[in-house]
Amino acid sequence: MGEHQKVEKNKVVKIKYELYDTQTGEKLEESEYAYIHGTGAMLPGLEKALEGLKVGDEKEVELEAKEAYGEYKEELVDRVPLEAFGGQTPQKDTVYYAQTPEGEVLPFTVKDIQGNEVVIDFNHPLAGKNLKFKVKVVEVRDATPEELEHGHVHEDGHGHHHH
Ligand code: ZN
Repeated sequence: MGEHQKVEKNKVVKIKYELYDTQTGEKLEESEYAYIHGTGAMLPGLEKALEGLKVGDEKEVELEAKEAYGEYKEELVDRVPLEAFGGQTPQKDTVYYAQTPEGEVLPFTVKDIQGNEVVIDFNHPLAGKNLKFKVKVVEVRDATPEELEHGHVHEDGHGHHHH
């Protein structure tokens, strides 16, 4: 089932991808990703490039930083006291999560520990990088009504709930 379906709005699309830093050629990631096409769950430039593809199709997509995860912003780098980590010693180059007073959860990366201060960075780890995606479409199917309602993919396509 699904072999002749095209990537279009409200299809569940599963891709295999390799992600490269365009400047250095370094491979940053290799993974699989399933999303509902046309719902804004995917980088817009990548979503547009996948439109109309079929299972088995492959494509290379290059995105500049501003079309991907944004430019790197120095003002998103901050310093906090070590005791903000509640007695734990943070690890360099590790992602932690901060909660705003509004309850929003924000990921950040610990860049450095300098005495009693920790240098933290709220930039997306891929901010400032021009990226190349090598993508292969591995599955296309209709999204279920429940998936459309939730705006995300359920692994088995059925009522399994995971919130
Ligand atoms: Zn759900």
